[in-house]
Amino acid sequence: MKKRIKIDGLPFETFISEEEIKREVRRVADELRNDLEGKSPFFVCVLNGAFIFAADLIREAGFNDSVITFVRYKSYDGTSSTGNVKQLVGLNEDIEGKDIVIIEDIVDTGITANLMVNDLKKRNPASIRFVTLLHKPESSKTGFKPDYVAFTIPPKFIVGYGLDLDGKARNLKDIYINV
Ligand code: 5GP
Ligand code: MG
Repeated sequence: MKKRIKIDGLPFETFISEEEIKREVRRVADELRNDLEGKSPFFVCVLNGAFIFAADLIREAGFNDSVITFVRYKSYDGTSSTGNVKQLVGLNEDIEGKDIVIIEDIVDTGITANLMVNDLKKRNPASIRFVTLLHKPESSKTGFKPDYVAFTIPPKFIVGYGLDLDGKARNLKDIYINV
């Protein structure tokens, strides 16, 4: 049975359950563990939206000596992308020679992802991998392709499990879609 809720007057219903999220987080964590065997990944969690996904993913992946740090960009206002990406918190660490794993909540137009990867590439890491909880390929304006995707979804606005509507709904355990 679908749960229906309203946030700021907008109707949403459950779209991906907590159980499905756990299963796919485990799958992506397994893939990362295989692909980065013997390496010490340098995780970069993209705030704010990816904080819950990143917390679950890095614990599930279980690397002994991984590092996690945080960056913050802003492109969304309400329920639509502004197309104008601002960096609010950058990366201060030296990433030369490091195996970078960027953790995002969602790739929509791909503008944020593209900007971030191009930025980090200039700093000579050994490798860059891009993980996203959600991917909306139909919204792409850049052709950006994430290396790991937990769920591919239609171009609709979603909230929950870290994703917000003007700061609200990040705490929901399931993912909800605007209906
Ligand atoms: P992009 O630069 O790919 O257009 O947008 C990426 C950012 O926009 C994401 O990291 C996320 O913060 C926000 N975003 C894109 N689609 C959605 C959505 O459906 N729901 C929410 N809550 N945020 C979204
Ligand atoms: Mg984000």
